[in-house]
Amino acid sequence: MLETEKEKVKKDAEALQLKMYINGEWKEASDQKTRDVINPATGAVIAEAPEGTAEDAQAAIAAAKATFESGVWSDLPATERAAYLLKIADKIDEKAEELTKLETMDNGKTLREAGYDVGDAAACFRYYAGMITQPDGHTYHVADPMQAMVVREPVGVCGLIVPWNYPLLMSVWKIAPALAAGNTIVFKPSEVTPVTPTKLLEIFEEVGLPAGVANMVMGAGPVVGNEIASHKDVDMVSFTGGTKTGKHIMKTAADTMKKVSLELGGKSPNIIFADSDFETAVDYALFGIYAGAGQVCSAGSRILVEESIYEKFLARFAERAKEIRVGDGSDSKTEMGPLVSQEHLDKVLSYIEIGKEEGARLLCGGERLISDGLDKGYFVAPTAFADTTQEMRIVQEEIFGPVVAIQPFKDEEEAIRLANDSDYGLAGAVFTVDGAKGLRVIKKLRAGITWINSYHPTYNEAPWGGYKQSGIGRSLGTFGLEEFQEVKQININLEVEPIGWFEK
Ligand code: NAD
Repeated sequence: MLETEKEKVKKDAEALQLKMYINGEWKEASDQKTRDVINPATGAVIAEAPEGTAEDAQAAIAAAKATFESGVWSDLPATERAAYLLKIADKIDEKAEELTKLETMDNGKTLREAGYDVGDAAACFRYYAGMITQPDGHTYHVADPMQAMVVREPVGVCGLIVPWNYPLLMSVWKIAPALAAGNTIVFKPSEVTPVTPTKLLEIFEEVGLPAGVANMVMGAGPVVGNEIASHKDVDMVSFTGGTKTGKHIMKTAADTMKKVSLELGGKSPNIIFADSDFETAVDYALFGIYAGAGQVCSAGSRILVEESIYEKFLARFAERAKEIRVGDGSDSKTEMGPLVSQEHLDKVLSYIEIGKEEGARLLCGGERLISDGLDKGYFVAPTAFADTTQEMRIVQEEIFGPVVAIQPFKDEEEAIRLANDSDYGLAGAVFTVDGAKGLRVIKKLRAGITWINSYHPTYNEAPWGGYKQSGIGRSLGTFGLEEFQEVKQININLEVEPIGWFEK
């Protein structure tokens, strides 16, 4: 046996053996098939995950339906559901170090990035635990003798499908409000990153969440995800992922008229005016695109710079981009990790070739990094193209990697026109010290998440979601809870006697 094969067998032996969680039991795939989960920094197999089948998804849906109908969760007083969510938050905090390390191994993000995600995940459970115990519903003064009221109820069985770029946090953004509202769930993590989602379900078991409330099925999107989106007993599908997949899910869900919530892709503009604080603008522009190696839906992947500072900006941006320390995210010195998979690496590298062919000026990066032990991982240098134009594919299409398109603009009007010339409308930012101009431009942006003199920070309190082809609905905030609720009007007759509409 070759040395490399020996090594692989050893790594496989050490790999975590993951299972799906259906009706309170840990299960292998019904046909026993598994999929290797790879550390994108090293190429090592870190886990083996069940490759779930449509039958597995059906079993999870049946469990979620029966549990919802039993009322064991939906009928629980809100304070008691909240108590579970608070216990889950505490457990996430207790296991923060382990979860952070695993997130880095599974997704490739740096320990610093993963640490923020884990902290935010705990905070999100606490946030919805607080919200669900607040008063809700309304009463209305209508014509006597009627009394009208509106109450909020859980939607029922919620199918939650998430991507790989924030394996834990994207799961929690859906699971916390869905459970808070009293739903039962069938949750599908990305097949690429099932490790921390499994740890989360283990926490649910540890805190004694009733069996069947939270079910997790792993596996391929077109198999397990499709079953969730199409099944008649799933009342709602909440999806985060690519716009193409989102369109498919919306069409699939139409047959059973499910409620649909979609958090999709982006190609977000970052507008930098000449009167901005220059170093702050450069700094956030770098953070906007290279955080998470650009694998962030809201990444500032189009930078628009006012003409008079354009060349100065390019020089400083490239200088700083070249200094970013790229490497294994589990090394605390690393500032930018790898791409998540070989497949995604190939996609991002192909876009870099497209950019070159389209005639954009390569400012920095533009290649895979393989020296200094990076050859087994999926690393790409922080890349910037300058002098890009609207018709270029690298300006219009989501690359989802550390690749940014930079172009100049003449004035405020042109900046707004260029910024909005996109099928996407997820996020955007403006850098200027002129407060009125900043707000004026932001109000014209057709995007759901925006910043002035900042990029990326987001909060549990504020709704997250996109305009145009970046999605439908919102996560987080009160809006994020309402996504997982139905509203019902109740009209009560206070004088119980016949209406007398028809003659006797
Ligand atoms: P993806 O669309 O390929 O996959 C997302 C999930 O959908 C995965 O669990 C996948 O298995 C599943 N899926 C794939 N095909 C399916 C099908 N036919 N039916 C049902 N489910 C299916 O996306 P990805 O590559 O995992 O993630 C990257 C994308 O996610 C980017 O476009 C990014 O912008 C987007 N994203 C958006 C947000 C947001 O909040 N708007 C947040 C994170 C990521």
